[in-house]
Amino acid sequence: APATTLLEIRELYVNYGGIQALQNINLTVNAGEVVTLIGANGAGKSTTLRAISRLLDPRSGQIIYQGRDITKRAAHEVVRLGIAHSPEGRRVLSRQTVLDNLELGAYIRSNSAEISADLDRQFEIFPRLAERRHQLAGTLSGGEQQMLAIARALMSKPKVLLLDEPSLGLAPAIVREIFAIIQDLRATGVTILLVEQNARLALETADRGYVLEAGRITLTGEASHLLDDDRVKKAYLG
Ligand code: ATP
Repeated sequence: APATTLLEIRELYVNYGGIQALQNINLTVNAGEVVTLIGANGAGKSTTLRAISRLLDPRSGQIIYQGRDITKRAAHEVVRLGIAHSPEGRRVLSRQTVLDNLELGAYIRSNSAEISADLDRQFEIFPRLAERRHQLAGTLSGGEQQMLAIARALMSKPKVLLLDEPSLGLAPAIVREIFAIIQDLRATGVTILLVEQNARLALETADRGYVLEAGRITLTGEASHLLDDDRVKKAYLG
């Protein structure tokens, strides 16, 4: 079947005061794809996700989702339209239980039977969270908090999941576990825009990738091609 564009960024510019964080970003995410945005610390990866989920206002450019311009929508409307963001640093509510955090992720929804079914679904995907459902989120390990952040985002029933640095600060075994779950999510039809500093892992997981350098996209292509690209190897694959 031909690719259906689900999300498109056109000529996006973002400033923080006098700092140009993003310059002329163009990218597309097709339905069912895992697309990754790789780049060094400070390249603008998180800023790109924050612009899409409307946590910041771009200076110019457009964000098109399912054919409509969402550039001026409020953040909660964007969630309602089907875009969920699992932020860098996880940002779970540490003094609330796992269950409370997950229920908060469903705040835009009202059908309690469906919400309850989706809670069960998260506990199937993340059995570690099931065992700890009544525990305060702040008492979870870093990896479990990352799982909770992803599960909370999934509770809004997104079509697109924006995933920021899921491997950050985690031990290799738990990173493998989380990336296996990302593959499973893709298999269930969730479209994913993945931001990662671990370029190898990201490119091994994704269908396509974009390389971001100092706020600009410098390279894009099939993930497998980027893994073989000498410039990518030299700069990001060590
Ligand atoms: P990291 O993974 O370290 O967050 P990144 O690629 O996601 O890196 P961004 O966080 O998007 O990069 O930051 C892009 C640029 O914008 C950096 O130069 C950063 O210092 C700057 N920046 C980010 N947030 C702010 C802010 N709230 N105010 C001012 N400058 C910011």
